[in-house]
Amino acid sequence: TSSSTTKLDLDGNPIKPLTICMIGAGGFIGSHLCEKLMSETNHSVLAVDVYNDKIKHLLEPDSLPWTGRIQFHRINIKNDSRLEGLIKCSDLTVNLAAICTPADYNTRPLDTIYSNFIDALPVVKYCSENSKRLIHFSTCEVYGKTIGSFLPQDSPLRQDPAYYILKEDTSPCIFGSIEKQRWSYACAKQLIERLIYAEGAENGLEFTIVRPFNWIGPRMDFIPGIDGPSEGVPRVLACFSNNLLRREPLKLVDGGNSQRTFVYIKDAIEAVHLMIENPARANGHIFNVGNPNNEVTVRQLAEMMTKVYAKVSGEDSIETPTIDVSSKEFYGEGYDDSDKRIPDMTIINKQLGWNPKTSLWDLLESTLTYQHRTYAEAVRQSIAKPVAS
Ligand code: UDP
Repeated sequence: TSSSTTKLDLDGNPIKPLTICMIGAGGFIGSHLCEKLMSETNHSVLAVDVYNDKIKHLLEPDSLPWTGRIQFHRINIKNDSRLEGLIKCSDLTVNLAAICTPADYNTRPLDTIYSNFIDALPVVKYCSENSKRLIHFSTCEVYGKTIGSFLPQDSPLRQDPAYYILKEDTSPCIFGSIEKQRWSYACAKQLIERLIYAEGAENGLEFTIVRPFNWIGPRMDFIPGIDGPSEGVPRVLACFSNNLLRREPLKLVDGGNSQRTFVYIKDAIEAVHLMIENPARANGHIFNVGNPNNEVTVRQLAEMMTKVYAKVSGEDSIETPTIDVSSKEFYGEGYDDSDKRIPDMTIINKQLGWNPKTSLWDLLESTLTYQHRTYAEAVRQSIAKPVAS
Protein backbone atom coordinates (compact mmCIF):
# COMPACT_ATOMS: atom_id res chain seq x y z
CA THR A 1 0.00 0.00 0.00
CA SER A 2 1.16 3.55 -0.68
CA SER A 3 2.13 5.76 2.25
CA SER A 4 -0.99 7.89 1.77
CA THR A 5 -3.19 4.90 2.69
CA THR A 6 -0.99 3.61 5.54
CA LYS A 7 -2.95 3.83 8.77
CA LEU A 8 -1.26 5.31 11.80
CA ASP A 9 -1.64 4.50 15.48
CA LEU A 10 -2.41 7.13 18.14
CA ASP A 11 1.29 8.04 18.34
CA GLY A 12 1.67 8.52 14.59
CA ASN A 13 3.47 5.23 13.89
CA PRO A 14 2.40 3.07 10.93
CA ILE A 15 0.24 0.08 11.92
CA LYS A 16 1.72 -3.25 10.80
CA PRO A 17 -0.64 -6.05 9.77
CA LEU A 18 -1.04 -8.46 12.70
CA THR A 19 -2.05 -12.09 12.98
CA ILE A 20 -4.58 -12.37 15.77
CA CYS A 21 -5.52 -15.65 17.46
CA MET A 22 -9.11 -14.98 18.54
CA ILE A 23 -10.47 -17.56 20.96
CA GLY A 24 -14.26 -17.44 21.16
CA ALA A 25 -14.45 -15.70 17.76
CA GLY A 26 -17.85 -17.29 17.09
CA GLY A 27 -19.63 -15.54 19.94
CA PHE A 28 -21.44 -12.21 20.14
CA ILE A 29 -18.37 -10.02 20.78
CA GLY A 30 -16.08 -12.13 18.58
CA SER A 31 -18.41 -11.88 15.61
CA HIS A 32 -18.45 -8.08 15.79
CA LEU A 33 -14.69 -7.90 16.32
CA CYS A 34 -14.05 -10.19 13.31
CA GLU A 35 -16.41 -8.06 11.22
CA LYS A 36 -14.52 -4.89 12.18
CA LEU A 37 -11.09 -6.41 11.56
CA MET A 38 -12.13 -7.77 8.17
CA SER A 39 -13.86 -4.67 6.86
CA GLU A 40 -11.64 -1.92 8.26
CA THR A 41 -8.11 -3.30 8.75
CA ASN A 42 -5.45 -5.51 7.14
CA HIS A 43 -5.06 -7.81 10.13
CA SER A 44 -5.55 -11.57 9.86
CA VAL A 45 -7.64 -13.65 12.24
CA LEU A 46 -7.26 -17.26 13.33
CA ALA A 47 -10.82 -17.68 14.55
CA VAL A 48 -11.05 -20.37 17.22
CA ASP A 49 -14.43 -21.61 18.46
CA VAL A 50 -16.68 -24.66 18.69
CA TYR A 51 -19.41 -22.88 16.65
CA ASN A 52 -19.26 -20.51 13.69
CA ASP A 53 -22.91 -19.62 13.00
CA LYS A 54 -22.41 -15.97 13.98
CA ILE A 55 -19.41 -15.52 11.65
CA LYS A 56 -20.67 -17.61 8.69
CA HIS A 57 -21.25 -14.40 6.75
CA LEU A 58 -17.53 -13.60 7.09
CA LEU A 59 -16.31 -17.09 6.12
CA GLU A 60 -18.50 -17.67 3.05
CA PRO A 61 -18.51 -17.39 0.10
CA ASP A 62 -14.85 -17.76 -0.90
CA SER A 63 -15.11 -14.63 -3.02
CA LEU A 64 -15.31 -12.26 -0.02
CA PRO A 65 -12.59 -9.59 -0.22
CA TRP A 66 -11.02 -10.73 3.10
CA THR A 67 -11.19 -14.49 2.48
CA GLY A 68 -7.43 -14.94 2.83
CA ARG A 69 -7.37 -13.07 6.13
CA ILE A 70 -9.79 -15.14 8.23
CA GLN A 71 -9.46 -18.82 9.00
CA PHE A 72 -11.86 -20.79 11.18
CA HIS A 73 -10.48 -23.47 13.51
CA ARG A 74 -13.12 -25.67 15.18
CA ILE A 75 -11.29 -26.25 18.44
CA ASN A 76 -12.44 -26.78 22.01
CA ILE A 77 -9.69 -25.14 24.06
CA LYS A 78 -10.39 -27.57 26.92
CA ASN A 79 -8.62 -30.43 25.15
CA ASP A 80 -6.82 -29.57 21.95
CA SER A 81 -3.06 -29.57 21.47
CA ARG A 82 -3.36 -27.34 18.37
CA LEU A 83 -4.05 -24.28 20.56
CA GLU A 84 -0.41 -23.61 21.46
CA GLY A 85 0.60 -23.75 17.78
CA LEU A 86 -1.99 -21.13 16.86
CA ILE A 87 -0.91 -18.83 19.69
CA LYS A 88 2.75 -19.29 18.69
CA CYS A 89 2.19 -18.23 15.10
CA SER A 90 0.13 -15.15 16.11
CA ASP A 91 1.29 -11.70 17.22
CA LEU A 92 -1.57 -11.33 19.65
CA THR A 93 -4.18 -13.52 21.35
CA VAL A 94 -7.65 -12.22 22.19
CA ASN A 95 -9.47 -14.52 24.62
CA LEU A 96 -13.25 -14.21 24.61
CA ALA A 97 -14.16 -17.81 25.42
CA ALA A 98 -16.25 -18.18 28.58
CA ILE A 99 -19.67 -18.94 30.01
CA CYS A 100 -21.10 -15.48 30.68
CA THR A 101 -24.89 -15.78 31.16
CA PRO A 102 -26.12 -15.24 34.74
CA ALA A 103 -28.69 -18.07 34.46
CA ASP A 104 -25.70 -20.46 34.41
CA TYR A 105 -23.76 -19.02 37.36
CA ASN A 106 -25.98 -20.45 40.09
CA THR A 107 -27.27 -23.52 38.21
CA ARG A 108 -23.97 -24.67 36.59
CA PRO A 109 -21.39 -23.25 39.01
CA LEU A 110 -18.77 -25.90 38.18
CA ASP A 111 -18.96 -25.30 34.43
CA THR A 112 -18.86 -21.56 35.16
CA ILE A 113 -15.70 -21.81 37.26
CA TYR A 114 -13.99 -24.26 34.90
CA SER A 115 -14.85 -22.22 31.83
CA ASN A 116 -13.80 -18.85 33.26
CA PHE A 117 -10.74 -19.92 35.21
CA ILE A 118 -9.38 -23.40 34.45
CA ASP A 119 -9.90 -23.27 30.65
CA ALA A 120 -8.22 -19.86 30.47
CA LEU A 121 -5.06 -21.10 32.23
CA PRO A 122 -3.36 -22.70 29.20
CA VAL A 123 -4.09 -19.59 27.11
CA VAL A 124 -2.34 -17.37 29.67
CA LYS A 125 0.50 -19.86 30.02
CA TYR A 126 1.14 -20.19 26.27
CA CYS A 127 1.12 -16.40 25.86
CA SER A 128 3.52 -15.94 28.75
CA GLU A 129 5.91 -18.74 27.72
CA ASN A 130 6.01 -17.63 24.09
CA SER A 131 6.18 -13.89 24.89
CA LYS A 132 2.93 -13.15 23.05
CA ARG A 133 0.62 -10.31 23.85
CA LEU A 134 -2.75 -11.19 25.42
CA ILE A 135 -6.02 -9.22 25.46
CA HIS A 136 -8.20 -11.05 27.96
CA PHE A 137 -11.92 -10.43 28.38
CA SER A 138 -13.02 -10.18 31.98
CA THR A 139 -16.24 -8.59 33.27
CA CYS A 140 -17.60 -5.59 35.16
CA GLU A 141 -18.96 -8.21 37.54
CA VAL A 142 -15.55 -8.42 39.22
CA TYR A 143 -16.65 -5.27 41.07
CA GLY A 144 -19.69 -7.12 42.46
CA LYS A 145 -21.92 -4.90 44.57
CA THR A 146 -21.33 -1.19 45.18
CA ILE A 147 -20.16 0.08 48.57
CA GLY A 148 -23.30 2.24 48.57
CA SER A 149 -25.58 -0.79 48.52
CA PHE A 150 -24.57 -1.51 52.14
CA LEU A 151 -25.64 1.95 53.36
CA PRO A 152 -29.13 2.52 54.83
CA GLN A 153 -31.76 3.09 52.09
CA ASP A 154 -32.21 6.74 53.08
CA SER A 155 -28.52 7.58 53.49
CA PRO A 156 -27.58 10.71 51.54
CA LEU A 157 -24.18 9.11 50.86
CA ARG A 158 -25.92 6.81 48.36
CA GLN A 159 -26.04 9.84 46.05
CA ASP A 160 -22.29 10.38 46.39
CA PRO A 161 -20.41 8.97 43.35
CA ALA A 162 -17.59 7.88 45.69
CA TYR A 163 -19.98 5.12 46.87
CA TYR A 164 -20.97 3.73 43.49
CA ILE A 165 -18.66 4.70 40.59
CA LEU A 166 -16.53 1.69 39.64
CA LYS A 167 -12.82 2.48 39.12
CA GLU A 168 -10.30 -0.01 37.80
CA ASP A 169 -7.47 0.96 40.15
CA THR A 170 -9.27 1.75 43.39
CA SER A 171 -12.70 0.07 43.70
CA PRO A 172 -12.89 -3.06 45.85
CA CYS A 173 -14.49 -6.31 44.62
CA ILE A 174 -17.52 -7.08 46.82
CA PHE A 175 -19.23 -10.44 46.44
CA GLY A 176 -22.01 -12.20 48.39
CA SER A 177 -21.55 -15.31 50.51
CA ILE A 178 -20.42 -18.65 49.01
CA GLU A 179 -23.96 -20.05 48.97
CA LYS A 180 -24.93 -17.21 46.63
CA GLN A 181 -23.45 -19.10 43.70
CA ARG A 182 -24.14 -16.15 41.38
CA TRP A 183 -20.68 -14.92 42.41
CA SER A 184 -18.86 -18.05 41.22
CA TYR A 185 -18.49 -16.26 37.88
CA ALA A 186 -17.17 -12.98 39.26
CA CYS A 187 -14.79 -14.84 41.56
CA ALA A 188 -13.38 -17.01 38.75
CA LYS A 189 -12.92 -13.91 36.59
CA GLN A 190 -11.24 -12.08 39.44
CA LEU A 191 -8.75 -14.91 39.96
CA ILE A 192 -7.84 -15.12 36.26
CA GLU A 193 -7.35 -11.34 36.24
CA ARG A 194 -5.03 -11.64 39.23
CA LEU A 195 -3.13 -14.48 37.56
CA ILE A 196 -2.65 -12.46 34.35
CA TYR A 197 -1.59 -9.46 36.38
CA ALA A 198 0.93 -11.63 38.26
CA GLU A 199 2.28 -13.07 34.98
CA GLY A 200 2.82 -9.46 33.92
CA ALA A 201 4.57 -8.56 37.17
CA GLU A 202 6.75 -11.68 37.54
CA ASN A 203 7.28 -12.90 33.98
CA GLY A 204 6.80 -9.81 31.86
CA LEU A 205 3.59 -10.93 30.10
CA GLU A 206 2.23 -8.11 27.93
CA PHE A 207 -1.47 -8.06 28.76
CA THR A 208 -4.61 -5.96 28.56
CA ILE A 209 -7.72 -6.82 30.55
CA VAL A 210 -11.13 -5.65 29.33
CA ARG A 211 -14.07 -5.26 31.71
CA PRO A 212 -17.21 -5.00 29.56
CA PHE A 213 -20.19 -3.21 31.08
CA ASN A 214 -23.35 -4.67 29.49
CA TRP A 215 -22.38 -4.57 25.80
CA ILE A 216 -25.50 -5.14 23.74
CA GLY A 217 -26.56 -5.33 20.10
CA PRO A 218 -27.40 -7.69 17.22
CA ARG A 219 -26.40 -11.39 17.54
CA MET A 220 -26.33 -11.26 21.35
CA ASP A 221 -27.14 -14.64 22.92
CA PHE A 222 -30.12 -16.45 21.37
CA ILE A 223 -33.89 -16.44 21.12
CA PRO A 224 -35.17 -19.46 23.09
CA GLY A 225 -36.79 -22.07 20.85
CA ILE A 226 -35.52 -20.37 17.67
CA ASP A 227 -31.72 -20.43 17.67
CA GLY A 228 -31.22 -21.74 21.20
CA PRO A 229 -32.87 -24.15 23.68
CA SER A 230 -36.55 -23.38 24.49
CA GLU A 231 -35.82 -23.64 28.21
CA GLY A 232 -32.63 -21.55 28.00
CA VAL A 233 -32.43 -18.20 29.79
CA PRO A 234 -30.24 -15.69 27.92
CA ARG A 235 -29.28 -12.21 29.15
CA VAL A 236 -31.80 -9.44 29.54
CA LEU A 237 -31.70 -8.07 25.97
CA ALA A 238 -32.55 -11.46 24.47
CA CYS A 239 -35.09 -12.28 27.22
CA PHE A 240 -36.98 -9.04 26.61
CA SER A 241 -36.64 -9.37 22.81
CA ASN A 242 -38.12 -12.87 23.05
CA ASN A 243 -41.05 -11.59 25.14
CA LEU A 244 -41.70 -8.76 22.66
CA LEU A 245 -41.52 -11.09 19.64
CA ARG A 246 -44.00 -13.47 21.31
CA ARG A 247 -46.24 -10.64 22.57
CA GLU A 248 -45.78 -11.77 26.18
CA PRO A 249 -45.20 -9.48 29.19
CA LEU A 250 -41.55 -8.73 30.00
CA LYS A 251 -40.53 -10.37 33.28
CA LEU A 252 -39.05 -8.04 35.89
CA VAL A 253 -36.85 -9.96 38.31
CA ASP A 254 -37.26 -8.81 41.94
CA GLY A 255 -38.98 -5.58 40.91
CA GLY A 256 -36.59 -4.61 38.09
CA ASN A 257 -34.83 -2.16 40.39
CA SER A 258 -31.26 -3.08 39.53
CA GLN A 259 -29.43 -0.47 37.52
CA ARG A 260 -27.28 -1.06 34.46
CA THR A 261 -25.43 1.05 31.92
CA PHE A 262 -25.74 -0.33 28.39
CA VAL A 263 -23.21 0.35 25.63
CA TYR A 264 -23.71 -0.35 21.94
CA ILE A 265 -21.56 -3.24 20.74
CA LYS A 266 -20.26 -1.19 17.81
CA ASP A 267 -18.99 1.57 20.14
CA ALA A 268 -17.35 -1.00 22.42
CA ILE A 269 -15.66 -2.79 19.50
CA GLU A 270 -14.07 0.53 18.54
CA ALA A 271 -12.38 0.52 21.98
CA VAL A 272 -11.03 -3.01 21.41
CA HIS A 273 -9.79 -1.97 17.97
CA LEU A 274 -7.79 0.86 19.61
CA MET A 275 -6.30 -1.58 22.16
CA ILE A 276 -5.22 -3.94 19.38
CA GLU A 277 -3.46 -1.22 17.40
CA ASN A 278 -1.94 0.71 20.32
CA PRO A 279 -0.06 -1.86 22.43
CA ALA A 280 2.19 0.75 24.03
CA ARG A 281 -0.90 2.50 25.42
CA ALA A 282 -2.89 -0.63 26.24
CA ASN A 283 -0.35 -3.06 27.71
CA GLY A 284 -0.42 -3.47 31.49
CA HIS A 285 -3.84 -1.84 31.76
CA ILE A 286 -7.28 -2.93 32.91
CA PHE A 287 -9.99 -1.05 31.03
CA ASN A 288 -13.65 -0.49 31.91
CA VAL A 289 -15.56 -0.35 28.63
CA GLY A 290 -19.10 0.95 29.00
CA ASN A 291 -21.37 3.95 28.58
CA PRO A 292 -21.94 5.82 31.87
CA ASN A 293 -24.53 8.04 30.15
CA ASN A 294 -26.89 5.16 29.39
CA GLU A 295 -27.99 4.24 32.91
CA VAL A 296 -31.47 2.79 33.49
CA THR A 297 -33.19 0.48 35.93
CA VAL A 298 -34.22 -2.86 34.42
CA ARG A 299 -37.82 -1.62 34.67
CA GLN A 300 -36.97 1.48 32.63
CA LEU A 301 -35.18 -0.72 30.10
CA ALA A 302 -38.34 -2.84 29.76
CA GLU A 303 -40.46 0.26 29.22
CA MET A 304 -38.09 1.70 26.63
CA MET A 305 -37.76 -1.59 24.74
CA THR A 306 -41.55 -1.89 24.64
CA LYS A 307 -41.84 1.58 23.07
CA VAL A 308 -38.99 1.04 20.62
CA TYR A 309 -40.33 -2.36 19.56
CA ALA A 310 -43.79 -0.92 18.88
CA LYS A 311 -42.12 1.68 16.68
CA VAL A 312 -39.91 -0.69 14.67
CA SER A 313 -42.48 -3.52 14.32
CA GLY A 314 -45.48 -1.28 13.69
CA GLU A 315 -47.47 -3.38 16.22
CA ASP A 316 -49.19 -1.87 19.27
CA SER A 317 -47.84 -3.02 22.64
CA ILE A 318 -49.85 -5.53 24.67
CA GLU A 319 -52.09 -4.30 27.49
CA THR A 320 -49.88 -5.50 30.38
CA PRO A 321 -46.32 -4.96 29.11
CA THR A 322 -44.49 -6.17 32.26
CA ILE A 323 -45.00 -8.65 35.10
CA ASP A 324 -43.07 -9.18 38.31
CA VAL A 325 -41.26 -12.42 39.05
CA SER A 326 -39.05 -13.42 41.96
CA SER A 327 -35.40 -14.23 41.28
CA LYS A 328 -35.89 -17.65 42.88
CA GLU A 329 -38.65 -18.44 40.41
CA PHE A 330 -36.74 -17.03 37.43
CA TYR A 331 -33.15 -18.11 38.14
CA GLY A 332 -33.49 -20.61 41.02
CA GLU A 333 -31.62 -20.90 44.31
CA GLY A 334 -28.35 -19.00 44.77
CA TYR A 335 -29.09 -16.04 42.49
CA ASP A 336 -27.99 -12.61 43.64
CA ASP A 337 -27.56 -9.35 41.75
CA SER A 338 -25.27 -6.39 41.15
CA ASP A 339 -27.22 -3.34 42.28
CA LYS A 340 -25.66 -0.65 40.11
CA ARG A 341 -22.86 -0.49 37.53
CA ILE A 342 -21.47 2.84 36.39
CA PRO A 343 -18.00 2.61 34.85
CA ASP A 344 -15.39 5.24 35.51
CA MET A 345 -13.97 6.18 32.09
CA THR A 346 -10.85 8.08 33.15
CA ILE A 347 -8.28 5.41 32.28
CA ILE A 348 -9.57 4.39 28.84
CA ASN A 349 -10.10 8.03 28.01
CA LYS A 350 -6.57 8.98 28.97
CA GLN A 351 -4.85 5.99 27.34
CA LEU A 352 -6.90 5.58 24.16
CA GLY A 353 -9.06 8.72 23.88
CA TRP A 354 -12.12 6.49 23.55
CA ASN A 355 -15.67 7.61 24.33
CA PRO A 356 -18.97 5.81 23.76
CA LYS A 357 -21.29 7.58 21.31
CA THR A 358 -24.65 5.85 20.93
CA SER A 359 -27.63 6.69 23.16
CA LEU A 360 -29.73 3.91 24.68
CA TRP A 361 -32.74 4.77 22.51
CA ASP A 362 -30.66 4.68 19.31
CA LEU A 363 -28.90 1.43 20.13
CA LEU A 364 -32.21 -0.21 21.04
CA GLU A 365 -33.74 1.03 17.82
CA SER A 366 -31.06 -0.53 15.61
CA THR A 367 -30.89 -3.70 17.73
CA LEU A 368 -34.66 -4.29 17.85
CA THR A 369 -34.91 -3.58 14.12
CA TYR A 370 -32.42 -6.42 13.67
CA GLN A 371 -34.30 -8.69 16.14
CA HIS A 372 -37.60 -8.06 14.35
CA ARG A 373 -36.11 -8.64 10.89
CA THR A 374 -34.24 -11.78 11.97
CA TYR A 375 -36.77 -13.50 14.22
CA ALA A 376 -40.35 -12.25 13.85
CA GLU A 377 -41.28 -14.69 11.07
CA ALA A 378 -39.62 -17.69 12.76
CA VAL A 379 -41.38 -16.90 16.05
CA ARG A 380 -44.74 -16.58 14.24
CA GLN A 381 -44.21 -20.00 12.68
CA SER A 382 -43.10 -21.64 15.93
CA ILE A 383 -46.20 -20.32 17.67
CA ALA A 384 -48.45 -21.55 14.83
CA LYS A 385 -46.88 -25.04 14.65
CA PRO A 386 -48.21 -26.77 17.81
CA VAL A 387 -51.75 -25.70 16.92
CA ALA A 388 -51.48 -27.14 13.39
CA SER A 389 -50.05 -30.53 14.46
N1 UDP B 1 -33.52 -9.49 34.21
C1 UDP B 1 -34.91 -9.32 34.27
N2 UDP B 1 -35.70 -10.03 33.41
C2 UDP B 1 -35.21 -10.90 32.47
C3 UDP B 1 -33.79 -11.07 32.41
C4 UDP B 1 -32.99 -10.34 33.28
O1 UDP B 1 -35.42 -8.55 35.09
O2 UDP B 1 -36.00 -11.49 31.72
C5 UDP B 1 -32.63 -8.68 35.08
C6 UDP B 1 -31.57 -9.42 35.90
O3 UDP B 1 -32.08 -9.88 37.13
C7 UDP B 1 -30.52 -8.33 36.09
C8 UDP B 1 -30.60 -7.52 34.81
O4 UDP B 1 -31.87 -7.84 34.22
O5 UDP B 1 -30.87 -7.49 37.17
C9 UDP B 1 -29.51 -7.78 33.79
O6 UDP B 1 -29.38 -9.15 33.57
P1 UDP B 1 -28.43 -9.82 32.48
O7 UDP B 1 -28.80 -11.26 32.41
O8 UDP B 1 -28.48 -9.08 31.19
O9 UDP B 1 -26.94 -9.76 33.03
P2 UDP B 1 -26.14 -8.95 34.15
O10 UDP B 1 -26.15 -7.50 33.77
O11 UDP B 1 -26.81 -9.18 35.47
O12 UDP B 1 -24.79 -9.55 34.10
